[in-house]
Amino acid sequence: MGKLNFADLGIAPEILKAIADLGFEEPSPIQAAAIPVLLAGHDAVGQSQTGSGKTAAFAVPAITLCETGDRSVQVLILCPTRELATQVADEVHKLSTHKRGIHAVPIYGGASYERQFYELKKGVQIVIGTPGRIMDHMDRGTLALGGVKLVVLDEADRMLDMGFREDIEKILSATPSERQTVFFSATVSKQIRDLIGRHSRDPKSVKIEQRELTVPTVEQWYYETPQRMKFEALIRLVDFHGFKLGIIFCNTQRMVDELADDLIAQGFSADRLHGGIAQAQRTRVMNKFKKAEFEFLVATDVAARGIDVDELELVVNYDLPYDAEDYVHRIGRTGRAGRKGMAVTFVSGRDIYKLQFIERFTRTKIHRGTIPSAGAVEERRVEGLLEKIREVLNRGNLATAVVDRLLEEGYSSTDIAAALYELLSGPEPDNKEPAKPAKPGSKPGSKPGSKPAATTQQPRAPEPARIPLLRPPARGMLWVRLNAGRETRISPRDIVGLLEDALGLPGRTVGIIDIIPGQSFAQVPKPYLNILRDGPREIETESGTISISLVPDDRPPRRPPPR
Ligand code: ADP
Ligand code: MG
Repeated sequence: MGKLNFADLGIAPEILKAIADLGFEEPSPIQAAAIPVLLAGHDAVGQSQTGSGKTAAFAVPAITLCETGDRSVQVLILCPTRELATQVADEVHKLSTHKRGIHAVPIYGGASYERQFYELKKGVQIVIGTPGRIMDHMDRGTLALGGVKLVVLDEADRMLDMGFREDIEKILSATPSERQTVFFSATVSKQIRDLIGRHSRDPKSVKIEQRELTVPTVEQWYYETPQRMKFEALIRLVDFHGFKLGIIFCNTQRMVDELADDLIAQGFSADRLHGGIAQAQRTRVMNKFKKAEFEFLVATDVAARGIDVDELELVVNYDLPYDAEDYVHRIGRTGRAGRKGMAVTFVSGRDIYKLQFIERFTRTKIHRGTIPSAGAVEERRVEGLLEKIREVLNRGNLATAVVDRLLEEGYSSTDIAAALYELLSGPEPDNKEPAKPAKPGSKPGSKPGSKPAATTQQPRAPEPARIPLLRPPARGMLWVRLNAGRETRISPRDIVGLLEDALGLPGRTVGIIDIIPGQSFAQVPKPYLNILRDGPREIETESGTISISLVPDDRPPRRPPPR
């Protein structure tokens, strides 16, 4: 059975536009099943697991039925918690951006009554709230439900578990009896069935059952990574493992475009596939990828359907898919024909719960991984080079004529070998002097104001440090360097504290931190860096002076290390 498009579900153009803005390419199963039923005005009971897109399934019909000329409450959405109410309100706001004159407001406990009075008084068509606070407003006479056409009970089972049954009954009784009533619930217990029986008429059941799926035997790993660090994490993993052919899945077209651009800017060969690209172009990209003419394909689920590439080594869920079936489809593209493949999933924040669900549902183990440090990536790179050199040496039969000439010119064989190694290991930094080790032991009482000689002599000189495999920083960030490295036992927390003091930034804005021998690096948002533009800044610490300087961002993008 082919999948439906949102446009097939009878959704108005202004809402379709908002759906496209959100980057949803096709309806999830519960959306495909529920939206037409709700649009037709039926009462309904919807059942599908967490993360399956139930919010849009009821929000789209809710927005559709609202008359913009009328500013009385027409839709009431009940949610168990304040967090859920806010989330649902966010999604309603987003989905209604192109339908002018729609007003929706979340009403929950713990927020100021004044603000809520004010909003309600101005007039809103959609109220999203927790039962307790909704009751409060009804009792105070600040919320009139006489014009309600649709009531949605989101996570009805949880609301009952939380003891909201009486409130819910009262709220429902305060709305017109000819209203439409829709229940969403993960489980349908006897209690829920009673509630449904008493408050709805001929409800249609919309239930999405997950099919049993065979999960491919690829190695599955997940990495907990905040959104802003995903890119760095991806590059480290690719460099570390030396992947040469992979698909990277994102949930939205915008994310696909951004990531493909970023990868290309880093010197990878990458291309993209998503529903917003013309079919002819998609076919071209697909064929090129099948012939391994570029390394990484960034794609949405829809666009990547039907891609079969036997040599695929890596599938990345850059965004966690919203349904477990998509997860299985995605990772099933690697590890074909008995080859080894790896599936990598990035999770941030509450994604972890969804991942646990996927794990349960697919009955496989997704291992927790840690992103290799910049130092480890560099080490791997050196190992790889040495391995290649050994291979060549072991092959024997080396043409020594060039080397003989250099020897005749008086260079030692060690120097010649070192020079060739330099050439082999990639672009050479401006200055080869090793990093000045930080002096943890230096006198704590060193006079304030007595700056280290190096900086007073040449305040704007290039940093006398070899900058190791530093990727260009994330959008809007730059690297700063601290002349204190691993041997000083400096911790990421120390670095955040130092940056707070030196640059006056909030600690949580500090991005990736790398502590390596001799020096450390951290990504910092550009707006906090003006202070460093005129030269390094010294900070006195218990263990000596630490210098913080800006790493210029004008180095050419680096190719991934040789494989
Ligand atoms: P549920 O209420 O079933 O737990 P949500 O409505 O909270 O699920 O949706 C889970 C996530 O999936 C949200 O981040 C949402 O934006 C996203 N999502 C929902 N529908 C789609 C879709 N059709 N395409 C892509 N992402 C979607
Ligand atoms: Mg939900």
